[in-house]
Amino acid sequence: MEQTLSIIKPDGVKKNVIGEVILRFEKAGMRVAAIKMTTLTRRQAEAFYVVHKERPFYQSLVDFMVSGPLVLMILEGKDAIKKVREIMGATNPAEAAEGTIRKDFADSIEANVVHGSDATDTAAYETSYFFSVFETFNRG
Ligand code: ADP
Ligand code: MG
Repeated sequence: MEQTLSIIKPDGVKKNVIGEVILRFEKAGMRVAAIKMTTLTRRQAEAFYVVHKERPFYQSLVDFMVSGPLVLMILEGKDAIKKVREIMGATNPAEAAEGTIRKDFADSIEANVVHGSDATDTAAYETSYFFSVFETFNRG
């Protein structure tokens, strides 16, 4: 069993597709091991996306991530990191495969509805960035 961090970003919450997004992950065998709806402070969003600090879209991305409530989740399952990213689809919805969350719901490369950790080390860092062990449940 593997754990990964997923976020339903502010655009997904505004579109009222929280349930739809979670359903797609559950149908693919993922289980919610932790979940909360919250807003991020600017400082939290900046640090979360610090790898993109030098990219031209960084400030706009941070503005977007603090623009409203979002849903933070730890998803657990077999090959969760890879599977969650497959279900999400490509970063740019114009390039996302049919049937993926981003193809079906995202408006732009920035407002693309979901986040998923991209590797084992980032998944470990990102899950512990937002959740304590007391908020996380092994669902396997
Ligand atoms: P992913 O979320 O698919 O792992 P990245 O890690 O490359 O994608 O980028 C993080 C987030 O930054 C994306 O999900 C998206 O919200 C935003 N982003 C990425 N590339 C761009 C871009 N060229 N213009 C605007 N926003 C972008
Ligand atoms: Mg990424």
